[in-house]
Amino acid sequence: MSFSIAIIGRPNVGKSTLFNRLVGQKLALVDDLPGVTRDRREGEARLGDLEFTIIDTAGLDEGAKGSLTARMQEQTEAAIAQADALFFVIDARIGLTPTDRAFADFARKANKPVLLVANKSEGKHGDAGAMESFALGLGDPIQISAEHGEGMGELYDALAKLM
Ligand code: GDP
Ligand code: MG
Repeated sequence: MSFSIAIIGRPNVGKSTLFNRLVGQKLALVDDLPGVTRDRREGEARLGDLEFTIIDTAGLDEGAKGSLTARMQEQTEAAIAQADALFFVIDARIGLTPTDRAFADFARKANKPVLLVANKSEGKHGDAGAMESFALGLGDPIQISAEHGEGMGELYDALAKLM
């Protein structure tokens, strides 16, 4: 069994963009898992010389930009249970929202290694939000831009320490 990482966080922070970047050409979708897993996507990811399974918590609730719905909670818990480590993603341009804090509680309670990923950090626009996210108690934020491929070296360094 390969090392597995679940990407968690509220809708619209860039989880699927990060998933797609890490999976690249090696996409292996798993659409038809039973039950609560059916709206998770898994792929074989690579970052430098690290290979791992990545789980994207895409969901039926992606449109729900507000609170943490029961569906999102269920899906996040299932992904966390399956994973060896977590990427907890925030939108560094927006900073912390109450929904981010609710997801962070799940990440903290998981008792698994968590990397705090401050996405959308290209061009310094994420600096304030990333600094704010330090208060979550999930360690130092790793500033990346999933869309532009920035910060992948820092993400690699942090991940290499866990695997
Ligand atoms: P998810 O709901 O967490 O899976 O988020 P998505 O991956 O669907 O991305 C939500 C939105 O954020 C989309 O419009 C993306 O293009 C945008 N996005 C994702 N990553 C970045 C990034 O690094 N920088 C910026 N500026 N936008 C991003
Ligand atoms: Mg998504």
